[in-house]
Parts: sequence; C-alpha cells; structure tokens
Amino acid sequence: MRAYDVIEAKRDGRELTFEELNFFIKGYCEGKIPDYQAAALLMAIFLKGMHEKETAYLTGIMACSGDKIDLSEIPGIKVDKHSTGGVGDKITLIIAPLVAACGVPVAKMSGKGLGHTGGTIDKLESIPGFMTMLSQKDFIANVKNIGIAITGQTGNLAPADKKLYSLRDVTATVNNISLIASSIMSKKIASGADKIMLDVKTGSGAFMKTIESSIELANTMVKIGEEVGRKTTAIVTDMDIPLGFAIGNSLEVIEAIETLKGKGPKELEEVSIEVAARMLELAEKGDIVHCRKLVLEALKSGEALRKFSQLVENQGGNIEIINDYSILGSAKYQQDVVSTFEGYVSSIKTDQVGLASMILGAGRETKESNIDYTAGIILKIKKGMLVKKGDLLARLYTNSQGKLEEAEKILKESIDTSETLVTSRPLILALVNIDTIERYV
Ligand code: URA
Repeated sequence: MRAYDVIEAKRDGRELTFEELNFFIKGYCEGKIPDYQAAALLMAIFLKGMHEKETAYLTGIMACSGDKIDLSEIPGIKVDKHSTGGVGDKITLIIAPLVAACGVPVAKMSGKGLGHTGGTIDKLESIPGFMTMLSQKDFIANVKNIGIAITGQTGNLAPADKKLYSLRDVTATVNNISLIASSIMSKKIASGADKIMLDVKTGSGAFMKTIESSIELANTMVKIGEEVGRKTTAIVTDMDIPLGFAIGNSLEVIEAIETLKGKGPKELEEVSIEVAARMLELAEKGDIVHCRKLVLEALKSGEALRKFSQLVENQGGNIEIINDYSILGSAKYQQDVVSTFEGYVSSIKTDQVGLASMILGAGRETKESNIDYTAGIILKIKKGMLVKKGDLLARLYTNSQGKLEEAEKILKESIDTSETLVTSRPLILALVNIDTIERYV
C-alpha cells in the first residue's frame, strides 16, 4: 500500500477501509509519511467528507495510538464531560464539584486553550499553587480519596490526534464534522470513563455556527461513543454570546466560585445545572427531574463549593482564594469600554470577544504563547439589553498596555445593536441521544 493511493482514493470520493486509514495514520505517526502527504489527505477528507464507518475507524485508530487510562480501580460509574469549546466557558469548574458533591466520581482530564477559546487547565493554573499535571497514580488516588481530580492530558494520550490536530490547525482543515468528532472522541475513549457527556457549543463563538451542524456533530459523536460501548449523551448549548460575563482565566475562576456560592450569572448557572444533571442521569442517579433536584441541593447547601475547596487544596492550590479573590492577582492596566452608540444589543460576535481577550493576553495565539492569567474582559452587557451612549460595555484587563487599543476596537466592533428589542434564544437548544434528537427551537 502507498500513501499516494490512499490520498488518491479519498480525492476521488471513495470510502477508505480500516486497513487504509490504519496504514496511513500509523505511517504518519512513525514519521514514514511526511506532513505534505498527511496535509493532502486531510484536505481531501475535508472536501469529500467521510462516512460514519470511516469516522469510527479513524477514532479507534487515534484512540489506540497511545496510552489508555484505566479508571477501573475507582468504584462507581465514571462520567466524563467535554465541551467542544467556547468563550467564557468555565462550566467544568462548576460541574465537576457539583457532580462530585452528589457522590459521582469525577476523574477529569482537561486541555489548554488555543486561539479564541479557553481551556480548563489554564483557568486552574491561575490559582496559585494548583498542580495540573498529576501522575496517573495520584490522579486515581485523588479521585478515590475525595471523589474528584482534574488533570492535564498526559503527553501520550491519543498522540495521533495531537499530531494531526497540529497539522489541521495550519492547513485550514479543523472545521470538519468527521475530523472534529474523531479528534474529540479518540481522547474521550482513551481517557477511560464509562460514560460521556458532551456539551456541543453552537453559534458565533463555536466551531459549529448553526444548530443543524451542531446537532450533526453531536449525533456523530454520540454514535461513535455508543459503538465502542460508552453510553454518550450530548446537549447543544448556545455560544452566540459568551457564557457569563467573565472571559480570561482568573476572572473566570472568580465567576465560577461566585456561581458555586449561588451568586453567579443565571445563564451560567442554568447551563451548569443541566450539564451536571445529565451527568448524574448517565451515572444512574435517577431520572432527569430527580437529578436536577440533586444538583440544586448540592449548590444550595454549599456542598459543591466545599467540594471545589477540597479539590483546590488536594492539588496544592491556595484555598484562601475562595474568600479573597485578590490572591489571584490583578492586571496592572484596566480600561473601561464605553458605548458610542445606542440601541438594543442584538448580537455579540463571540469569536471576536474571544479574540480581544486573547490579544489582552488571556489566550494563546500559538501553542508556545505564554498566558497572562489576570488578563481578560468583564462584559457589562448581554443580548437584548438597551445600551445608551456613555454606558459601560466592558472592562478590559491586561499587563500589556499597548494591547488595549486593539482589543477595545475589536470588542466594540463585535457588538451589534438594533432599534427594537431582540429576543434571545434558549440556552439549551437540543438534546441528542443514540435513538432520539430533541430540538427546543
Ligand atoms: N477539539 C478537539 O479536541 N478537536 C477538534 O478537532 C476540535 C475541537
């Protein structure tokens, strides 16, 4: 078999066999197939698509390309959660302690942010002392001891995906449903959880811009999960506006803690409760109505906040942050963005808000970029709000004064207004299971 023949087959729209995909991916990982041929195959896949069977083969091949985490030592049903990525998405910081407080073990492997989207590991690293790279032994021991641990991915989890993702990133081949689904699910499968809860973001700040394409991505991932015996549920949630008001690492940690204290933005609380409740349902804690009740109780009683504190302490972080946010530090430069226009906020280009935050230092332009943990944005507006000239739109935070002007310009341009009130769509837009798709709009 030759790499050329596999590329040619896909270029001509033929369905690839397991043997062809395995030959190619293995060859690429072993350095026998060069980047230019892998890039050609990725572009052919991007343009011609892949059938369900090919997507499942690719997922399996990438999942088996490195370490597989064995969580069997941890008693109980382990449910993993994954968000396809958004702006201001600090949900993991809220749902992990919520779910653990309800007695379901949380063994969570998370990633770093890239581009306009943030990553849980960066947010946790903004907490002084918090260790995000646990050995597998400590990771499992922590979950057994306190019911929760969050760690960065080991270097060798689905390495084929890592290599291919880097190539996709520079060849304009990220945004393809089969490639995204196989990339995410290969890591989820290798991470070892029994069941998988997916939060598929949709809208201007997400990979998938329409509800239809988001449902298709959700459905593809659910099918892959179920095919390998991992019950998988997906909800499609709104990313046409940032989730909550805070964007940027330590700013998001504060907003997450406020939410655990019952004082967070109601949109953030709503999505968190739904994701956590769906995870409990997967963990067989009862039907969804009962699971929502359990989650609300854990939030109201302060049990989830206590679990968060335990998580921080157990991983070496300073738990004083829970009552004293100043320990997280603050950016040297803070600048108010004031409205020069009038009208009802009709849309916020969420990817642009993420970009503005990245420019301020909160995100990475390339994998090698350093993060400024205190940088970011606190929005003061949301969809449907009436804004007058002179009103505060947002506050920018950075340690690089020279970045303020560009970030302010991008942020202002991201906000559209209209003369009439625009109604917002629901936050939870669809629920996808193996045999049902429920759409709420
Ligand atoms: N997240 C991933 O892990 N992979 C993708 O392809 C897109 C988002």
